[in-house]
Amino acid sequence: MSNYDITRIRSDFPILKREVNGKPLVYLDNGATTQKPKQVIDAIDHYYADMNSNVHRGVHYLSQISTDAFEVTRQKVKDFIHAAQLHEVIITSGTTHGINLIATCFGQAFIHEGDEIIISAMEHHSNIVPWQMLCDFKGAVLRVIPMDEHGELDQAAYANLFNERTKLVSFTYVSNALGTINPVKQMIATAHQHNVPVVLDAAQAVQHIKIDVQDLDVDFMVFSGHKMYGPTGVGVLYGKEALLNALPPYQGGGDMIKEVTFAKTTYNELPFKFEAGTPNIEAGICLAFAIDYINEIGVENIKAYEDELFDYAHSRLREIPNIRFIGTAEKRSSVISFLIEGTHPYDVGVILDKLGIAVRTGHHCAQPVMDQFGIPGTIRASLALYNTKEDIDALVSGLQRAANMLL
Ligand SMILES: *Cc1c(COP(=O)(O)O)cnc(C)c1O
Repeated sequence: MSNYDITRIRSDFPILKREVNGKPLVYLDNGATTQKPKQVIDAIDHYYADMNSNVHRGVHYLSQISTDAFEVTRQKVKDFIHAAQLHEVIITSGTTHGINLIATCFGQAFIHEGDEIIISAMEHHSNIVPWQMLCDFKGAVLRVIPMDEHGELDQAAYANLFNERTKLVSFTYVSNALGTINPVKQMIATAHQHNVPVVLDAAQAVQHIKIDVQDLDVDFMVFSGHKMYGPTGVGVLYGKEALLNALPPYQGGGDMIKEVTFAKTTYNELPFKFEAGTPNIEAGICLAFAIDYINEIGVENIKAYEDELFDYAHSRLREIPNIRFIGTAEKRSSVISFLIEGTHPYDVGVILDKLGIAVRTGHHCAQPVMDQFGIPGTIRASLALYNTKEDIDALVSGLQRAANMLL
């Protein structure tokens, strides 16, 4: 990709210059969290040095500029995901918060004993456990879309899971453990044929794939700032206005109310109804800078670059003795999960760390996926917009070394 200025991009990320264990850092744990460009780091500094104040409250100057900056993020998010309306964007603390919010509020309003909720076999724990908690609480039933040996969801089985008790479907766009890109537009249409709303976990998708919530016709969508080059402690819940309005509030507190008396409290309108208490202000404000950063390069350009790197990584990783790829779906993004058979992922991870190479080893918060493949965990290399072929080469030689030592 000739117009993709990788040298400039890498120079935007100060941490990429550091060494780990005396070796240049090779950061391939982007599925867990991405590094931050100086544009975001500087914005955090700037917030505390020049703006710090609570939002949505004071009439004083600093409170106004903080509030305005916080609302700029909402606007940028709206444009980024192409939401129809600004107040359909709820600022959360992250994906986990967003899913728990929907599970609690939707559950309270619409889930009754015997109702059914559909999730998939490849979900992150944060898209499993909140639904299990809701099912326990309400006496509802969790149904699971099965997955085949490649890590693809069984679409025929999915369509067959629906019945008159089905109330909600929740699945991931991209699997954090396998890299599978699910055919979400089609899956959403299937749910809508049964008049069932869909929650989309886009935590591993927004930073890699252009998303248009109106085109997908998705009902709710959640993601985290820290996996898209933004700060930790901020995320987004998108919801269609009518659905959000139909839900009761989540937490009670400041900002989410219109009027409070001991006799009766009236709730604020969207989006504030779901934003109780002081938010993570600096993270909320600085998420806008991460979105700007992605937009300046262009999500499509990022995807094309990462796809090329992904193919390169696959072809090179085949050189490793005993390598077994976990997740071989036809459509995948950025996540490469594998094992060196005859070794434990943890031991390989320790050797890679000694060489300055950061990967994740373990179950990746997706134990049911590991159970289905009959393995305790994998080694996961996950790519971001600043990775290079040199990073992949370093990984491959580190794995060669690990294989020599451990096999
Ligand atoms: C990381 C991740 C989550 C949880 O995100 P948090 O930022 O930890 O709340 C949920 N789903 C997927 C697919 C993820 O990758």
